[in-house]
Amino acid sequence: MVMTDESSKADRDDQGRIICYNCLAENHPHADFCEHCGTPLSSLSTIDPIKRIAATGDTWRKAASSPSKRIVLIGMWLIFAPPLLFFVLSLFAFVSEGDRSDNPGALLKTLVGMVVVCLYGLILVKVTQNYIRRKRAAANDECEGEEL
Ligand SMILES: [Zn+2]
Repeated sequence: MVMTDESSKADRDDQGRIICYNCLAENHPHADFCEHCGTPLSSLSTIDPIKRIAATGDTWRKAASSPSKRIVLIGMWLIFAPPLLFFVLSLFAFVSEGDRSDNPGALLKTLVGMVVVCLYGLILVKVTQNYIRRKRAAANDECEGEEL
C-alpha cells in the first residue's frame, strides 16, 4: 500500500505534474517554483537557504505588486520600517560628521545605505498604496451595492 498525503495529492494531476495554486499553470513534478509566476511549490523552497531567498522575494514582490490586506501591510512595515529608520539615521549621522573624502570605505557604506533606504522606502510606499487602493475598491463596491 502506498501512503499518499491528501493535500499534496490534490495539487497534482494524473501525470504527476504540479498545478500552481496561484496561476493554475502545470509544472514539472519536481519543480520547486512555478515556471510561470515564480510561486514556491515545494516545501524544499522554504528549507533550502538559496531557494528560501527566492521564496521570500516572491512574497515581497506579491505584497508590493497586488492589492494587499491589512495584515500584509502591518507585516511589511514591521519587516522594513526598523532597518529603514536605522539606515536613515546612519546617513544623517554620517552627513553631519563632515568631510570623509579620505575614507573610501565610508563612502561605499553611504552608497549602500542610500540604495537600501531607496529600495525599502519604495517597497513600503508600494505596499501602502496597494492597501489604500484595495480599501477604496472595497468602499466603491459597498456604495454600488447600496444604489442597487
Ligand atoms: Zn504559478
